[in-house]
Amino acid sequence: MKKRGRIVVVGAGPVGLITALGLSQRGVPVTVIESEPALTHDLRAGSFHPPTLEMMQPLGVTQRMLELGIKVPRWQIRDRRDGVIVEWDLGLLADETPYPHRLHLEQHRLTPIALELLRKFPSAEVLFSTSFVAATQAPDGVTATVAGPDGERTIACDYLVGADGGRSAVRKSLGVGFEGFTWPERFLVVSTTCDLKPYGFTENAYIADPDEWVAIFKMPHSGPPGLWRVVFPTDPNVPEEDVLAEPFCRRLVDGFLPERGDYEMPYRSCYKVHQRVAGRFRIGRIVLAGDAAHVNNPLGALGLNSGIHDAVNLYPKLAGVWAGEADASLLDVYERQRRQVTVEFIQEQSVRNKRLLEERDPKIRKERLEEVRRIAADPVAAKKFLMASSMIASVRRAAEIA
Ligand SMILES: Cc1cc2nc3c(=O)[nH]c(=O)nc-3n(C[C@H](O)[C@H](O)[C@H](O)COP(=O)(O)OP(=O)(O)OC[C@H]3O[C@@H](n4cnc5c(N)ncnc54)[C@H](O)[C@@H]3O)c2cc1C
Repeated sequence: MKKRGRIVVVGAGPVGLITALGLSQRGVPVTVIESEPALTHDLRAGSFHPPTLEMMQPLGVTQRMLELGIKVPRWQIRDRRDGVIVEWDLGLLADETPYPHRLHLEQHRLTPIALELLRKFPSAEVLFSTSFVAATQAPDGVTATVAGPDGERTIACDYLVGADGGRSAVRKSLGVGFEGFTWPERFLVVSTTCDLKPYGFTENAYIADPDEWVAIFKMPHSGPPGLWRVVFPTDPNVPEEDVLAEPFCRRLVDGFLPERGDYEMPYRSCYKVHQRVAGRFRIGRIVLAGDAAHVNNPLGALGLNSGIHDAVNLYPKLAGVWAGEADASLLDVYERQRRQVTVEFIQEQSVRNKRLLEERDPKIRKERLEEVRRIAADPVAAKKFLMASSMIASVRRAAEIA
C-alpha cells in the first residue's frame, strides 16, 4: 500500500487555517502555502454567527475569540426616515445554541489564533511567500507547482484544498467556472470613533433607504471602546480616491446621524461586491472551500461564516478519506451539502438582504418592512427568521443532504 502523504492547503486565510487545524487535529500532516509574507491584515469580515462559534469550539478557537470579541445579542433593522423597524433578540435561540448571540471580532484577529494553534502540531507546516501556480492529478496523488523565495518547485501530496480566496488560482487551474454577477456599486467601509450607541443603534444594525442604505458593525479593534464600522453603497462613477476622501466619508456618516458628530475615521476602504458560485467544489483530489468556492455581499454576514462551515464540513470527511477509513465519494457529499446550501440559502439570502435595504419602489418597500414587523410580532415566525438569519437552519439543512 502507498505510504500516506500530506494534504496541501492553499491560502492561510481563515478558511485555509481552520481546515488545516482540523486536519492536524485528526492526525493528518498538512502544508499550508500562502502567497503573502505574513497573515493578511485587511478590514474584512468580523461578525460570527452561533453555529460558526459552535463549530470552532472543538478546535479551541472559539474560547479565544470570546475573550477578545464583542457579544451582540440584539440587532436592528431600521428605516432611515422611520427609525427602528425591528430589534431582534437572539435570546430566542437560547434553546438551540450555547451561543445565542453574534460575536464581533476582526477576521485578522481570528487568523493569528488559528495559526498559533496550528503551530502546536509538529506535522503542520506553513510556508509564507509561497504561491500556488498549478497542479496535476494522478489516481494516487496531486503534484502542486508552487513559487517561493527560491523559485518554482513541486510538492507531492495526497489531496489539495483550494482556500485561496475569490480570485482562486486553484479554481482557475481546474477550469471550474465561477458563475454569477457583480453588483454595479462599490461598498465603502468607514471605521469611526463616533459612538453610535447613544443614538440608539445596536452593535449590528441595517438601515434601509432607497438612496443610501447603511450597515453597522461595532468592532472591538484594539480593545474598549472599539470602533464602529459603517458600510455604504457608493456610485461606481465617482473615482475611488474621491470616495475615500475624508470630507466624502464624513458627509455620509453625518448623513444618518441626528447631529454632526466629533469623531475620527482611522480606516476607510472601498471594494467591489460579487455573487458567484463555483460550478464544482471537488474535482478528483482537489477541493475548493470558502471564497474560492463562493462569494456574496456582506449584508447578513454570511460570507466568512459559510466559508468556515465549508472548512468544518470538509476536514473530518477529508481526514477519513485520507486515512483510508472512508470512500473518496464522501468528498462528493461535501460538494453536494455545501454547494446546495450556498446556492439555496447563502446566495439567495444575501441578495434578499440587499434588496430589502435598497428597495426604491415606495409601495414594495413599505410592504417588505411591514412584513418584517409582522414576523417579529409572531414568536414562531420570529424564531424561524432568526434560525435562518443566524445560519442554524442552513447548517441543519446541509446535514440532511446525503
Ligand atoms: C469588506 C469586506 C467585509 C466583509 N464582511 C464580512 C462579514 O461581516 N461577515 C462575513 O461572514 N463575511 C464577510 N466578508 C467576506 C469574508 O471576508 C470572506 O468571505 C473571507 O475572507 C473568506 O475567507 P477565505 O479564507 O476563503 O479567503 P481569504 O480571506 O481571501 O484568504 C485567502 C488567502 O489565500 C491567499 N492566496 C491567494 N492566492 C494564492 C495563491 N495563488 N497561492 C497561495 N496563497 C494564495 C491570500 O493571500 C489569502 O491569505 C467580507 C468581505 C469583505 C471584502
